[in-house]
Amino acid sequence: MQIIYINEDKYQYDIHSLFKAFWPHEEVRVIAGNPGDFPEKEEDITGADFVTRINVTGKTKDEVKQEIYRRESEKTGKLLPWGDLTGIRPTRIAMNLIEEGKSDTEVTAFMKEHYFVSDEKSALALEIAKREKEILKRIDYKNGYSIYIGIPFCPTTCLYCSFLSLPIGANSNLVDDYIKCLQREIDYVAESFAGKTLDTVYIGGGTPTTLSADQLKRLIGYLKNRLDMKSVKEFTVESGRPDSITLDKLRVMKKMGVTRISINPQSMSDDTLKLIGRRHSVSDVIDAFNLARDEGFDNINMDIILGLPGETAMNVRHTIDEIKKLRPDDLTVHCLAIKRGSRLFEAMLEKEKNGSLSVSLQKSTDSTEEMMEVAMKGAREMGLLPYYLYRQKNISGNFENTGYALEGKAGIYNILINEEVQSIVALGAGTVTKRVFGYGGRIERCDNVKDLKLYMNSIDEMIERKRKLFEKE
Ligand code: SF4
Repeated sequence: MQIIYINEDKYQYDIHSLFKAFWPHEEVRVIAGNPGDFPEKEEDITGADFVTRINVTGKTKDEVKQEIYRRESEKTGKLLPWGDLTGIRPTRIAMNLIEEGKSDTEVTAFMKEHYFVSDEKSALALEIAKREKEILKRIDYKNGYSIYIGIPFCPTTCLYCSFLSLPIGANSNLVDDYIKCLQREIDYVAESFAGKTLDTVYIGGGTPTTLSADQLKRLIGYLKNRLDMKSVKEFTVESGRPDSITLDKLRVMKKMGVTRISINPQSMSDDTLKLIGRRHSVSDVIDAFNLARDEGFDNINMDIILGLPGETAMNVRHTIDEIKKLRPDDLTVHCLAIKRGSRLFEAMLEKEKNGSLSVSLQKSTDSTEEMMEVAMKGAREMGLLPYYLYRQKNISGNFENTGYALEGKAGIYNILINEEVQSIVALGAGTVTKRVFGYGGRIERCDNVKDLKLYMNSIDEMIERKRKLFEKE
């Protein structure tokens, strides 16, 4: 275990994240307080493999991080691809520098000198920032808004899932009432956002296509009746799990104006799919994809995850080769993030406690860097270009999640939510609404409770929270 003592109550999150990036397999504990209260001798500190004492007084966050980066890099011999950046949106830095009129060389040099970012990642951040800027140019994101609708049901629960997701089988009796609550929230949006431009709609989850064709029709139909959809540039339904996709659901979505869907394999290996608790097979993915193409969907995204338990770079190469045959319009490459609340996290914790985790559940030991190379190369070979990127806590190899798309097929909503340039009104249990107070202005959020029954019982309060947020000066 790494114990880090700091002499003031600040920067804990960043210090923790940076140490964790250097020491991914160790527990890291950051303790803030009066140095006089800390044990003087290291042998008095139980359980600590390394003890670090940091004086943060009078130093900026950047200065503290630079100091840690230099020291830990020397100690471990590691260079981190994103340097000392601990935030989730490194492309924002590149974007801001471009807006200040800096040249490509100046942007890259700045990222390297100030944050120790590798040449490769600086170039990626720059490429994405430029592409995002170009895509955003085409929409009036400053005066518009977007809608997110969360459907918290899935066919089964994946091993790594930390989202709000209930198995549809045991909860199907709740769906109709849930839709009624969403309709109440849609009514609020219709009243409060009348006259404003609705740019994108994203129905995610969970797995929205666990709803029946009739339920989907009722939900989307209500949305279209109550809101002015003429200005919508993109309407996504994350179909996600192929075992939830049927011809009648695809037909409903197509007929009702859905422009973009996701069919997510995560891996094209049947063994892995079984291991991670997805009930579908590789051939289900292929069948669902072909069915959607036949029904005329010309913007299909696929998600894959690198670093899944038991997978090596060879599995990723196989996944990419299989995906290539399908020719998706958009590919999102995630690195596995083991989050609190997931079954995988609990299993890992158990392993730490008694060392008894079965080999099959262990996280991939292959280098995420190698897998990342395979995925990135594969995406480019398919003609897909990177257009958004974000990082998460506890992400495999301290890397990033990247969205790639064909020219003209990039997911606009993904950019809007990632760059935080537009207000997003989120409907449904466990969703978070974000208000952007003018371009580049402050951002405030309000959330809907996660507990499904509580959400349904307190729908008035959920709406009131939004009303208050959007009435603020
Ligand atoms: S499909 Fe997504 S939301 Fe559903 S259980 Fe799997 S990871 Fe969770």
